[in-house]
Amino acid sequence: MTLINRDAQVIWHPYTQQFMARPPLPVVRGEGASLYDEDGHRYIDAISSWWVTLHGHSHPYIVAKVVAQLEKLDQVIFAGFTHEPAIALAESLLAILPDTQQKVFYTDNGSTAVEVALKMCVQYWFNKGRPKKKVLAFNNGYHGDTFGAMSVSGRSAWTAPFDNLLFEVIFIDTPTAENLASIKRSVSAHAADLACFVYEPLVQGSAGMLMYEAADLDELLAHCRHEGVLMIQDEVFTGFGRTGKNFAADHLQVKPDVMCFSKGLTGGAMPLGATTCSLEIYNAFVSQDKMKTLFHGHSFTANPLACTAALASIELLLQVPAQENIRRICQRHEAFLEEIKDHRKVAAVRQTGTIIAVEWKTGTGTSYFSDLRNQLYDYFMDKRILMRPLGNIIYILPPYCISDEDLDKIYTEIINALEIF
Ligand SMILES: *Cc1c(COP(=O)(O)O)cnc(C)c1O
Repeated sequence: MTLINRDAQVIWHPYTQQFMARPPLPVVRGEGASLYDEDGHRYIDAISSWWVTLHGHSHPYIVAKVVAQLEKLDQVIFAGFTHEPAIALAESLLAILPDTQQKVFYTDNGSTAVEVALKMCVQYWFNKGRPKKKVLAFNNGYHGDTFGAMSVSGRSAWTAPFDNLLFEVIFIDTPTAENLASIKRSVSAHAADLACFVYEPLVQGSAGMLMYEAADLDELLAHCRHEGVLMIQDEVFTGFGRTGKNFAADHLQVKPDVMCFSKGLTGGAMPLGATTCSLEIYNAFVSQDKMKTLFHGHSFTANPLACTAALASIELLLQVPAQENIRRICQRHEAFLEEIKDHRKVAAVRQTGTIIAVEWKTGTGTSYFSDLRNQLYDYFMDKRILMRPLGNIIYILPPYCISDEDLDKIYTEIINALEIF
């Protein structure tokens, strides 16, 4: 039996309607920005394998570090125990984050990093004896697929079956010069009940790479601080160079109370999540009173292999080649968007750092479920380029090591696709 037939017998894939899905592509090897199938065909990974791969697949430096760690210590309980990779990673992460961030709590994915952030903020107020239970979030936000993370995400087809089980959230639009005054008034109106504000900084990824201005976010964040609303900056997607700087936080003046990381944290090599927080938050849990403990943990909290991969990936990120590659991608993206922005089929183009999005003009629907989405997906797969359009929006966010030739091939196929669809 082929891998595809065996897969069809036993596997249920994420975000996939199994009834009509194109059969999955069995991949046997990855290197740099390339994925190889069983027959040796090479696919360009234009989206960093769901936004995680930073320095290329199976990067030799990360692999060597993880293998060495695997031979020493694979896993150990993280309550009552600790280990060098977890400590060293926390040290190196905090060193490059805003100085408000002083403590690291590990989990194993982005959704759980958000869950922990929400629990930290809600319990902060509980521990202070001033319970506040409502959360503020953006329309169109995405923070993950577990129940808490779904609750603070925009309501959509993805959350519809669960809407009556999701907790109450005050939703506001992302800020613009025009709506800032009214958004600030909504924040003030609810401030007394608001435990926290959770937001994707600068780019709303899953909503279709929607982008908004750092200056407008800064003004909103300054207002939240003024109103005593804790800020959770979800950098699960924007962290580690994606926005052209190490973090979206590096584009902002106002520093958050809590931050969430996953995806690129390990360079995409291993699953890991991290929630960082200020001393003010941490100290609210340090008490003689056992009720003030953060009762949260996962079996694989701070897995030593994942921490080792993250440590190696951050080292690579801070070195000159990665920083030059990030700058190179930013410049090439900008030139490409300049070239296509006036194309008759292009409704809009957007860029934040290494992330670009091209919105198709369509007569037919623009939803996530539009036929155009599947046609574009198939078109690029047939050209051996991995892209995953969000409705009528295609986006590129490649591993930083991608070659100029591969970028050119992606750009060319987008131009070709604009002529066809
Ligand atoms: C992907 C994503 C998450 C969820 O991360 P998972 O590891 O997929 O659970 C949370 N927040 C943002 C901004 C994301 O893009």
